[in-house]
Amino acid sequence: MPRHRDPLSPKVVYRTARVGLRVTRAQRRRMVRLLVSAGDVWACVLELNTWRQARQGRLLVSYQELCRELACAGPNTFGELDSVGARSVLRRYSDAWFAAAKRRRKGDQRARFPRRRRALMPLRWHHGTFTLQARRLRIPVARGRPPLWVRLDQDPPYPPEQIRSVTLLYDAGRLWVDVTAEVPVACYPDGQKPDPARIAGVDLGIIHPYAVAGPDGQGLLVSGRAIRAEHRMRLADTKARARAVAHRAPKPGQRGSRRWRHYRRRQRLAEARHRRRVRQAQHEAAKTVIIWAVDRRIGTLAVGDPRGVLKLDAGRRHNQRTRDWRIGHLITVLADKAEAAGIRLQLVDERGTSSTCPACRSRIPKPAGRVLTCPACQFTGHRDLSAAANIAARLGGGTTPALPAGVTHRRAGAHLPGVAPSRRDPRRRAHHRGARGSPGRHRPARTSLAQAGPGVARHLARSLNTTR
Ligand SMILES: [Zn+2]
Repeated sequence: MPRHRDPLSPKVVYRTARVGLRVTRAQRRRMVRLLVSAGDVWACVLELNTWRQARQGRLLVSYQELCRELACAGPNTFGELDSVGARSVLRRYSDAWFAAAKRRRKGDQRARFPRRRRALMPLRWHHGTFTLQARRLRIPVARGRPPLWVRLDQDPPYPPEQIRSVTLLYDAGRLWVDVTAEVPVACYPDGQKPDPARIAGVDLGIIHPYAVAGPDGQGLLVSGRAIRAEHRMRLADTKARARAVAHRAPKPGQRGSRRWRHYRRRQRLAEARHRRRVRQAQHEAAKTVIIWAVDRRIGTLAVGDPRGVLKLDAGRRHNQRTRDWRIGHLITVLADKAEAAGIRLQLVDERGTSSTCPACRSRIPKPAGRVLTCPACQFTGHRDLSAAANIAARLGGGTTPALPAGVTHRRAGAHLPGVAPSRRDPRRRAHHRGARGSPGRHRPARTSLAQAGPGVARHLARSLNTTR
């Protein structure tokens, strides 16, 4: 719940970053116990309300009532957990309950009230209750217990005075802290502020997560091939792993062995690593778009929303592709970053934009490759950029000229393994000279002939001669 602010104060947005923890075994045990205690608080509230419902009593759902009930329980009911942490669980319950009630009032009968117990529950501490000094974090515990100081594995991406809360949580076998900060919306010097009349269209795709067409024939293409490769490697990896262990899988109703439990743990870690990689790459791609837009003083982004067609069943291969796309996340990260940069973002119906000529508006069949050619007016251009220009036109932006003035190319996911020789993917087969389909030994990219040395220059000269 955001705090009350003076309406005249500068605009802010709330942003959260997840940071890992570097802890000793004893610290880890204490923090897991805190999370278990939080799960106990949650279970208590569920049970309390089940009990009251069985007696046709009034449910306790408001935050204040639940806090009063917690105060009645007295200190040390929930081990080391302090009252601020315990109240954060009550806040979570209350928010979830009222959100479900609101959705049900609107007629959504699928919305359900909180009913499931959880072994571990995230805990949140607001500003003033925790201490964060550089990478050292003091997590509050119940009075009389030894203080709990832990170390973050990297600096939070926000200045310390902006940090408003920390959330302790457990995900895929690791402890994390979500650091939430109050970030002011970007201010610009005179004449550099994004102009809302300058509109750019954004086409969302798989090969290019973002293709952006701006005014004056400016374009930006962010390549998502590394992300797609990561998805494919993960699929192949998952299948191979499943094949290898299928004969050891416990039968239905049978208790899994210790070996099986270890396998499941490794599987969860690999899945979590994959999710983090894709997430990070999509964040970077969105940031590229925003930096590009700010440089060109673009104040409005028209984003084609293709989510209407995703419900259609398109066969298992294409369904997998659209699931991997994570289109909702692509839109969310772009919207969040646009808001923080003071750029307006509007969703536009994108139907037909990739099969319309941006020059003469005639319908053309969707090309299989990346180049769109119009049979009516001989327009030729990049398919995704043309779609982006059509999307911009739906919001009143200009269309791209036949030859774009300048297209910037960027890649998403420079951190993904396999995109550079220095980040070899252990899941890929090593490149050997004799292996089939091997591109040969990796060599660093040549920057210039002078740097490459005489041998390479000679080799280049020879290959140029032969190609001519
Ligand atoms: Zn045309």
